[in-house]
Parts: sequence; C-alpha cells; structure tokens
Amino acid sequence: MQIAPDCIVSFHYVMKDADGVELDKSSDQPMVYMHGRRALMPGLERALAGKVTGDSFTVTLAPAEAFGEARPVSEQRVPISHLQGARKWKPGMQAIIHTKQGNRQVTVVKVGHTMATIDTNHPMAGKTLVFDVDVTDVREATAEELAHGHAHGPGGHHH
Ligand code: ZN
Repeated sequence: MQIAPDCIVSFHYVMKDADGVELDKSSDQPMVYMHGRRALMPGLERALAGKVTGDSFTVTLAPAEAFGEARPVSEQRVPISHLQGARKWKPGMQAIIHTKQGNRQVTVVKVGHTMATIDTNHPMAGKTLVFDVDVTDVREATAEELAHGHAHGPGGHHH
C-alpha cells in the first residue's frame, strides 16, 4: 500500500547537512510514525507520501521545511525554574520550556542566580537538511492507533 494519511510507516533514515556531514540516523530499529498527524517535520512527511515498502529516496529540506529559519533575535531571559530537563544548568545544555505554542527545545546561554538566558532557536534552525530514507514497512493503523493518533508497538508508543 502507498503511504497515505493514517498509515503506520516504518523507515530508516540518515540525516545530513548540506555538506554531507551526518547529523543523525535511525538506530537498529526503524523510525515508526502515523502519517498525516504531524509527527515528522512537514517536508519529510510530504516526501514520504505515496511511497511504498522498499522505496529509497533522498530529499533535501530547506530550513523552513525542517527545523525553521534561525531568528536573529532569539535570546531571552527566563526564570531558571522554568527550565525543564535537568537540575543544574550550564551554558550549552538543552532545556525544554513551556510556551503558549507548546513545549519548545531551547539552548541555555548563561545561568545566573535566579534567571537564565536562553536561545530559543532550535539547534538545527537555519540548516538545510538532507535525508536518505528507506521505507521498510507500510501498514494500516489499528483502531486503537487511530483513536490515539500515533503508532503503537516496536518503535511506536508504549503505554
Ligand atoms: Zn497510544
């Protein structure tokens, strides 16, 4: 079957920057997601649509289709208590903060007594990304997966 909304898709990937430097890849287990539920970055999901098991392809994503454009003014001061993910913070660490738009990954720039300076750009913001993708499985979602809006089983959610 072809990848379409609500399919459960398994795929291996290698993510590289525009110079071909490898940044990330799937582990031994493929990545598993439910198509059409915004589980992946939009450009990658668009490239997967219509593919079938066994398809391999390479897609280049402009920053806007990947982790977003880098915003020039992205540093903010926030109370340290708003940073989530660690107890002690040092410059360079990644933190999660809650915003009106949802959880957001930020980089800690400076740490004071009560306030921290964070950079709200995603570490990959502004980068063009190249994905080598191998589609390893496409199947229909179970009723439970459809109700939850995500994939279950190996590589998916475990409850
Ligand atoms: Zn679930």
